[in-house]
Amino acid sequence: MKVLVCGGAGYIGSACAEYLIDNGHQVTVFDSLVTGHRDAVDPRAEFVHGDLADRDLIIDTCRKGGFDSIMHFAAFSLVGESMQNPSKYFRNNLANGINLADAAVEGGVKSIVFSSTAATFGQPEESPIRETTEQNPINPYGESKLCFEKVLKWYNVIHRIKYAALRYFNAAGASGNFGEDHNPESHLIPLILQVAQGKREKIMIFGDDYNTTDGTCVRDYIHILDLAQAHMLAMTAPESGHYNLGTGNGLSVEEIIDAAREVTGHPIPAEVAPRRAGDPDTLVACSDRAKAMLGWKPQFESAHTIIDSAWKWIQKHPDGYAK
Ligand code: UDP
Repeated sequence: MKVLVCGGAGYIGSACAEYLIDNGHQVTVFDSLVTGHRDAVDPRAEFVHGDLADRDLIIDTCRKGGFDSIMHFAAFSLVGESMQNPSKYFRNNLANGINLADAAVEGGVKSIVFSSTAATFGQPEESPIRETTEQNPINPYGESKLCFEKVLKWYNVIHRIKYAALRYFNAAGASGNFGEDHNPESHLIPLILQVAQGKREKIMIFGDDYNTTDGTCVRDYIHILDLAQAHMLAMTAPESGHYNLGTGNGLSVEEIIDAAREVTGHPIPAEVAPRRAGDPDTLVACSDRAKAMLGWKPQFESAHTIIDSAWKWIQKHPDGYAK
């Protein structure tokens, strides 16, 4: 299939583009490079340097491209920043997303696979989180993603474009070629690995008084190649749908640090710091629907294999991508 990967120079989009090409698909990456990296674009993909705010460009790209499907990773994704600057989030994640949805209509695209998030659930009422769990975002980031899920629902009803909204839990790990390089970095695993690299003295644990077994927050870490597999399956699924993507195995911040100590052989000093605003105690997915409806089979179930893949990538790219 011909696939347009918007945000294909970013962390998850780059690995997904690579996975699609490895599986025989033809990929065009569209990316503004605002947060993505040119070196994260698979060299076998065509590349269009553009911003979804440029409505004419994305419509023109879709009219000429003859794409069967679009994967939409291009978004801002920092909860804290969204609480400071909601406009940035609603403009890019919602308004610019509508430009893409319109371009899909103009280009006769048959399906859109959308990067949604566990943040659409807010403080969930149940754990693990199912697709039927009520969505009540508690920040503009989660709200912007939920709004776009609804946009896609209506484009499906009216324009007959199939869609899949994939709610990722904590994306982690690396493929052989592509890994995580955010600036500034705020995610737990890459920060822990910076300690192992000697770039950072210690890891701060944001709160140890949560209602969890060891008091630190519990998250569901899912490998980016397992996310890529889910995207490829969703692209050809006969029906539209919403899917929660995680391993179903909740791990605390302390458990992740311990696993990283074992993988890297570094003591990784840690210090407890105050809670970070907006962190729920526990976010764990029930992914039974994706397994049943898409035939999704995650391959990387353990924290060790996920962290090991990230560690290998960092050792090959100690300073990330070329800046
Ligand atoms: N976290 C932490 N120290 C850090 C960064 C993150 O204790 O330096 C915690 C954070 O509070 C959360 C978990 O690690 O409970 C995962 O955070 P991350 O930012 O990686 O992903 P999020 O869950 O926010 O999507």
